[in-house]
Amino acid sequence: MAVEFVKSVYRLEDLPKTNEPRKDIVFVGRSNVGKSSLLNFLTGRSIAKVGKTPGRTRAINYFKWDFEGVKAFLVDLPGYGFARGDRKEVENWKRLIEGYFKNRVSDIGLVLVLVDAKVGPTKDDALMLEWLQYLGIPYAVVLTKTDKASQKELSQTVRKLKELGVEEIIQTSSKERRGKDKLLKVIFSHLRKNP
Ligand code: GDP
Repeated sequence: MAVEFVKSVYRLEDLPKTNEPRKDIVFVGRSNVGKSSLLNFLTGRSIAKVGKTPGRTRAINYFKWDFEGVKAFLVDLPGYGFARGDRKEVENWKRLIEGYFKNRVSDIGLVLVLVDAKVGPTKDDALMLEWLQYLGIPYAVVLTKTDKASQKELSQTVRKLKELGVEEIIQTSSKERRGKDKLLKVIFSHLRKNP
């Protein structure tokens, strides 16, 4: 698997050109959900910084990803729910993310919404899911840190997500290195559906 950092996007005009063959595989979730760990686990490379100070990476990070004949961008969106008190920062985040989805809607292969298996979907997660459903963007939920959740917590989280209309749920633990094959399978099936 080849993975290569392309750029950090701070302004919408710096997004890649639209209608290129490479689709976006997007990773989004609240800060600390385990997004960097999952990206590193998935690619087998230390491409994302784990345990960084929340709120410090306000950019959209683009990576080129070539794997088993499939070419895509891995897109690391800044985590949400990081600075409730800081209105300006929240507004900047919102503008960047909303602009991202509007600009790239036809270039998105799949959005992976990361949800902590133990914590379950937050209000922000529910809003994100509602928005993706409204825009008709293909998405799946990746449960992170399943090693920390009891069987009961896990089934509660799954039930809540189903109530929110989520059909595809992938269970992962970057710590215990579980769920990678299933995640790859889901990514590939969506890339083939949206060539
Ligand atoms: P991000 O802010 O979403 O990018 O999250 P990070 O990947 O930086 O992880 C946040 C914290 O959760 C770090 O302390 C990680 O070590 C921890 N973490 C990430 N993935 C797992 C996991 O699968 N299991 C457990 N137990 N901890 C994890």
